[in-house]
Amino acid sequence: MLQQTQVATVVPYYQRFVERLPDVAALAAAPVDDVLKLWEGLGYYARARNLHAAARELLRAHDGRIPDDPNAFRKLPGVGDYIVAAVMSIAFDRPLAVADGNVKRVVARLDALDENIDRPAGARAVLDRAQDLLARDDPGTFNQAMMELGALVCRPLNPRCDACPVRHQCAARREGDPSRYPVRSPRREVPAARIAVGVVSRRGRVLITRRPDSGLLGGLWEFPGGKVTEGESPACACAREIREEVSLEVEVGERIARVRHAYSHLRVEIEVFACRYRAGDVVLDGPVDYRWIRPEETDEYAFPRANHKFMAEVKKTLAPARRRAKPRRPA
Ligand code: SF4
Repeated sequence: MLQQTQVATVVPYYQRFVERLPDVAALAAAPVDDVLKLWEGLGYYARARNLHAAARELLRAHDGRIPDDPNAFRKLPGVGDYIVAAVMSIAFDRPLAVADGNVKRVVARLDALDENIDRPAGARAVLDRAQDLLARDDPGTFNQAMMELGALVCRPLNPRCDACPVRHQCAARREGDPSRYPVRSPRREVPAARIAVGVVSRRGRVLITRRPDSGLLGGLWEFPGGKVTEGESPACACAREIREEVSLEVEVGERIARVRHAYSHLRVEIEVFACRYRAGDVVLDGPVDYRWIRPEETDEYAFPRANHKFMAEVKKTLAPARRRAKPRRPA
């Protein structure tokens, strides 16, 4: 969870997670949907799917125990350099330096490193230096201290040099402008897209579809829809996307919400339309599963955060329709 996400955000997720799935066996036995539901809102859902797959692999190949050999541990799904170094040093005292974003910044400033840390040579130089600095008698504590130093003291902007325990060894501080480091590649501008989404209702139920396991938001449930193409109206895009994804004909009604959401690689504006089912049987092209659910059942499925931004409007819009759909009692 801590890969890509800050501690303060992770803590409640972590507590709920270990309460519900306290060990490797429980995690391996859980359906992946339950794991995604516990992860819902944390983002980077491949981490959840990999953690689940890793638990199953641990049971299959390692008797349910986490191997203390870095090479064996590295073979588990989702395990890369950062996870290997963090887990092996903290749990098993293996002398491996962690080089997350915080540590890279501290190391680059300590040495006033002129190399670009986004390029392979610069990244290598930082990792080698972190490995040189590592306290071999307690690598886990050292790694955690370095990560904390970067997060709390050697901040990206306004580093607190006067409170820093390594200020006397720091070349960037001596130079007088620490925030010049680390040298990085300029950020690319994040593109924007318009998305049209349809909440298709039929007999008091609403259609949700499931994304494929691989790729962005993999395995999550959502309302069908997609990108608005150039020259197309959002309402037309909504009907077209629904036809393409689930092969249904719908009547696109009022727009019930418009929300904005930012992913790391894309900013989106989502327009959400209430749609009435008109014809067809669901045939999937893109999604891997679907359900017709009652609006209150949305809480049982894991949706992307962007969908949660308009979930209240969805429920509000569907409530009167459901009341109307109830059969009248005979007088
Ligand atoms: Fe960072 Fe300043 Fe400490 Fe250097 S002295 S490591 S720039 S906080």
